[in-house]
Amino acid sequence: MKIENYIRDIQDFPKKGILFKDITPLLNNVEARQECLSILINSLKGQKIDKVVGAESRGFFFGMLLAQELKAGFIPVRKPKKLPFDIISASYELEYGTDSLEMHTDAIQKGDRVLIHDDVLATGGTAKAVCELVEKLGGEIVQCNFLMELTFLNGREKIKEYPVFAALAY
Ligand code: 5GP
Repeated sequence: MKIENYIRDIQDFPKKGILFKDITPLLNNVEARQECLSILINSLKGQKIDKVVGAESRGFFFGMLLAQELKAGFIPVRKPKKLPFDIISASYELEYGTDSLEMHTDAIQKGDRVLIHDDVLATGGTAKAVCELVEKLGGEIVQCNFLMELTFLNGREKIKEYPVFAALAY
């Protein structure tokens, strides 16, 4: 079982010049999904995790599977104005301008051991903002993990103070 066979390249999405890695074939196959989940779980080497934080929106899919497997809570980090309760927010840079991400203030207790998950590590801006949110609430980041990293964008550099794992690298 090779999980890379379930990642599809889409040329010029969402705009011209971008080669988009589409994870929907992976989501749609039970064995590939299980294999990918096992790879991510094994990378943690049995470390205890209290909370899994998933970044909107493709970080929710495996984020929730990881949380269930680890018997940990699941915390959604969302785009602005989506979360209903009290929030904290962190901004990050886009190609043009900035955007921000939000998390509920009661999602993490001080000292919680946190796993951060997203589907793709590209420039690292998203992951860095998620790390900031977790640390604002006193969480301890155990690992940031991803289905894949786009190594040529060097996103690891932005989150180099944390352990980073990606199941696939391009
Ligand atoms: P970054 O903030 O690291 O530049 O971008 C990562 C975010 O953009 C992730 O939340 C990810 O979902 C999305 N992203 C960037 N490029 C791709 C891609 O090729 N495929 C997918 N599925 N998501 C991408």
